[in-house]
Amino acid sequence: LVELDRAHLVHPLASYRGHEAAGVRVLSSAKGATVTDAEGRELLDGFAGLWCVNAGYAQQSLIDAATKQLSQLAYATGYFGLGSEPAIRLAARLAEHAPGDLNHVYFTLGGSDAVDSTIRFIRYYHHAIGKPEKDQFISVESGYHGSSTSGAGLTALPVFHTGFGVPHDWQHKIPSHYAYRNPVGSDGETIIAASVASLRAKIAELGAERVAAFYAEPIQGSGGVLVPPAGWMKAMHAVCKEHDILFVADEVITGFGRTGPLFASAEDGIVPDFITAAKGMTSGYVPMGAVFLSDRIYDTIADGAGDAPIGHGQTYSGHPVSAAVGLACLDLYENGLLDNGRMAGNRLLEGLYSLADHPLVGDVRGRGMLAAIELVTDKERKTPLPAEADAGRRIFDRAWANGLIIRAFNQGILGYAPPLCCTEEEIDTIIDRTRMTLDQTLEDK
Ligand code: PMP
Repeated sequence: LVELDRAHLVHPLASYRGHEAAGVRVLSSAKGATVTDAEGRELLDGFAGLWCVNAGYAQQSLIDAATKQLSQLAYATGYFGLGSEPAIRLAARLAEHAPGDLNHVYFTLGGSDAVDSTIRFIRYYHHAIGKPEKDQFISVESGYHGSSTSGAGLTALPVFHTGFGVPHDWQHKIPSHYAYRNPVGSDGETIIAASVASLRAKIAELGAERVAAFYAEPIQGSGGVLVPPAGWMKAMHAVCKEHDILFVADEVITGFGRTGPLFASAEDGIVPDFITAAKGMTSGYVPMGAVFLSDRIYDTIADGAGDAPIGHGQTYSGHPVSAAVGLACLDLYENGLLDNGRMAGNRLLEGLYSLADHPLVGDVRGRGMLAAIELVTDKERKTPLPAEADAGRRIFDRAWANGLIIRAFNQGILGYAPPLCCTEEEIDTIIDRTRMTLDQTLEDK
């Protein structure tokens, strides 16, 4: 398998460098929060796959839902006025849960095409209301909004831009709220004021009449689990409202219980114009993402701009098997999974904060079951681990040897997003194995 993998399988490229030499690690089975590799080693999955297996592995109700739907109706298009019961019911139940008037759901295959779809919806919306000059988009440094060409342009991680001609000239960034390494300091109010000032300045520079939308994650995930100060989303939302700029909350990671509630936007006290979601929606069992649209926007898009209706659709939008799993997932969230996630999230943060005294730990941050510790070689100076020494991959390997899967960002940030079904004992084991990994890393220095 290692040889075949090297020869033929193209992995997601940004994270694969460095792993290639060691050879692929083949996962062969999993149950709950425990994954077993091809050699029979059991590991605790502290990252829920890729922040997605919220319900844990081998959940019987999800397996049953998929299996039943596969034999009953394996496929139905949403084109030609056709549909399937699971897709309709899932959209209706999600609309009930979504904040405010986000009552309309467009299904995608994942997060990237959800983000990409919002860009098209927004452009079309402004075309339909006679404001086609609103064609500029703003997002936040360190943000991740997918790998589609337009989404990668909103993404503000340089590795996603190399060689692709993105960001496009209509895509702009403002500085991140990254509290631990913010030039304005770590005080929440100061950071919010700085972000508000940056957004206002960017809008003034472009001209408010030209700015279509602003994109933000409630917590920046792929940028290193950067948690904004409480009130940050609300303050940015208010600036957008003031200037008639649409607000997109990218909840591909934060949605579906990762930070506690079904949507982090609810906790942030905002009703965005769009929410994008994926991952936890089907707990990674089958591919599915979604765009939530407000009444006002959906009605305008659906009515169309007179002679020019919008063309936008995908073969697998509203796939009945994915929707059936989505419904079964919602049952789990409503019947204890969100509650367990909150309990386990408190335990996780408590455990990570107990590591704050460790000589390598510079920062601990998180909300619910989405957290990180940032490692430094000098706490006073906040010196990052040397990226050129592949620090991230080495810590990943060491954690793996200790029976733990975590996300190790190359600059020495360790990301945590365990399944929401974790027991307290499993969370404690994640912390113990992290401590062991840190001690070994320290010995190595
Ligand atoms: N937006 C955010 C905030 C994400 O975290 C991700 C994936 N990590 C995406 C979009 C893209 O989703 P996908 O990988 O399912 O295309």
